[in-house]
Amino acid sequence: MIHSPIEGLRTLVLNADMQPLSYAPLSVWSWQDAFVAVHQERVIQIRAYEDVEIHSASETFQVPSVVALKSYRKRKRVTFTRYHVFLRDEFRCQYCGEQFPAKELTFDHVQPRSKGGLTTWDNIATACSKDNLRKANKTPEQARMKLLRKPFKPSVHQLDATARKVPFRRGELHNSWLDYLYWDSELED
Ligand SMILES: [Zn+2]
Repeated sequence: MIHSPIEGLRTLVLNADMQPLSYAPLSVWSWQDAFVAVHQERVIQIRAYEDVEIHSASETFQVPSVVALKSYRKRKRVTFTRYHVFLRDEFRCQYCGEQFPAKELTFDHVQPRSKGGLTTWDNIATACSKDNLRKANKTPEQARMKLLRKPFKPSVHQLDATARKVPFRRGELHNSWLDYLYWDSELED
């Protein structure tokens, strides 16, 4: 029997060094997966949701809000995804410098595809729709538009550092997680 709504509760997953397993995106599991992993002794429960309990016929269990791996897992390579490109560029249009929500951003091929430009880390830049439209099939020189910074392939470390700077919406983070996240900027409402 369940006492308070736990549907959708998630568990922050830390590496053995007590840093999140990944920042980009933040490593979280469903509470069910975390619960099973704790009871199979694959991970250690660090914190539990205070207002939530699970009852079996004879026992009461806590629901983990933060767990940690028992042995250190080496960080993976950075994958070339939409999210990681936006994150590298701090969700900032690389032409006008404004920050936008992901849904208002697009990708610009710096060297246009029609001129042989590839879809690679060093040729894709985050752009707002207005600037993407303005630049169209031209090179930055032809469009007389200047990039804030030349696109590049970020390291895991660089993306982590950026992820800590990009504000998360408060609702996405449980209070018990905050001790384990080192945000450089204030959380936004
Ligand atoms: Zn722009």
